[in-house]
Amino acid sequence: MTNPRSLLAANRWPVAVLGATGAVGQAFVRLLADHPWFDLVEIAASERSVGKSYRDATRWLEGKMPERTAKLTVKPCDPLEIKAKIVFSALDSSVAGDVEAAFAAAGRVVLSNAKNYRMADDVPLVIPEVNGHHLSLLDRQRSERGWPGGIVTNANCAVTVIAMALAPLHEKFHVRKVFATTMQAVSGAGYPGVASLDILGNTIPYIGDEEPKIELELTKLLGTYDGSRIVPAEIVTSAHANRVAVEHGHTVCLSVQFEHPPTPEVALDTLRAWKGDPAVHGLPSAPSPAIIVRDELDRPQPRRDVMDGRGMAVTVGRVRRDNIFDLRLVAMAHNVIRGAAGGSILNAELMVASGQLIGINRT
Ligand code: NAP
Repeated sequence: MTNPRSLLAANRWPVAVLGATGAVGQAFVRLLADHPWFDLVEIAASERSVGKSYRDATRWLEGKMPERTAKLTVKPCDPLEIKAKIVFSALDSSVAGDVEAAFAAAGRVVLSNAKNYRMADDVPLVIPEVNGHHLSLLDRQRSERGWPGGIVTNANCAVTVIAMALAPLHEKFHVRKVFATTMQAVSGAGYPGVASLDILGNTIPYIGDEEPKIELELTKLLGTYDGSRIVPAEIVTSAHANRVAVEHGHTVCLSVQFEHPPTPEVALDTLRAWKGDPAVHGLPSAPSPAIIVRDELDRPQPRRDVMDGRGMAVTVGRVRRDNIFDLRLVAMAHNVIRGAAGGSILNAELMVASGQLIGINRT
C-alpha cells in the first residue's frame, strides 16, 4: 500500500512566512528550503522591507541564504497579497494579533510564534510530542470565531524546553511544583536584540514578560483536553529568567515536586523510554529520540548539544535528588529551532498528517 505521507512529497503545500526577515523568520527560511512537504513561495514583513528582494531586505544571520528565497520580493502582511493557505508567522507580538486574525478570517491556517493567542481558550498551544491532540480545539475556534482558517500557536521558547523535559515525568508521576531557573541565549531576543555591551561578559537577571509566560503556558501544555476545553495541569511554577552570553540554546535548571516521586533511576529510565505521541513518529522534522539523556556530569551544554536532532531534540542531564523538592535536572534545547520555527513546522506537519487541513484547498 502507498504511504500517504510519501504522496505529499510529490505535491507540496505552498506556504508563506510572515516576519521572514527577523531571527525566527530566517530560521523558517532555512528549515523550509528543502522541506519535503512544504514549498516556501511567499514572504512578508514590515513596510520597511516591502517591495525589496528578500536578499536586500534581510540582514542574513547564519550560513548561506537559499538562492530561491533570496530572489522573492517581500510582500506586505496582508491576506489580500499572500495566497498561500499555510502561513508561518514570525511576527513581532506588537502586530501579530491583528495580522494573524486577518489571515485566519481569510481562510488561512496560521502557525504562530507570537504570544498573543497562546493562552486563548479556543487556541491550541502545541508541542506535537507532548499535546498534539490539543489541535482538536480548532473546531471550537472555527465555530466560535467564524474563521474558515485558524490559528495554532507554539509555546514560549523557554517553556518548550521545560514542558518537553517534564512531559514524560508528568504522565507517570504527576508534577506538582516546579522551581525553574533559565539561562537564555541572546538569539531569543531576536535581531538586533540585546546590545553587545549589555551582554558580553554578563548575565542579565530579567527578561521582560518571560516568567509569567513560563508559569502559565506550562499548565496549558501539560493540561488535559476534555472534549471542549483544556483543563490546566495543577502545577505551580516559580520561574527565574536570565539572559546569558550564549548564541543559541536555552538551558533550564529544574527542581521538581511530584505527587508520586520517582527515584532518579526511575526518572532516567522514563525519560529514556519516552517516545511522545505516536502521531509524530516519522514526521519530517520530528527528532528521534525527542529527548536525549546525557550521563556526563557536565552536560547538557549549548555549545556541544544544541544541534542534536537537527536542533529539534531536548537534551536532559544531571537528574538527581533535590534537597527541597524530589528531583532536580537540567534541560536544554535550541530556542530558534525547537523553541520557534522548527516547532511551528512540526505543528504544521502534524496537521497535514492527521487530516487537520482537510477542507482547506492548497491553492
Ligand atoms: P525579530 O528578529 O525582531 O523579527 C521581527 C519580524 O517582525 C521582522 O521580520 C519584522 O520585519 C517583522 N515586523 C515588525 N514589525 C512589523 C510590522 N509592523 N508589520 C509587519 N511585520 C513587522 O524577532 P524574532 O526573534 O524573529 O521573533 C519573532 C516572533 O517570534 C516574536 O513574536 C517572538 O516573541 C517570537 N519568538 C521568538 C523566539 C526566538 O528564539 N527568537 C522564540 C520563540 C518565539 P522587518 O524586518 O521588515 O522590520
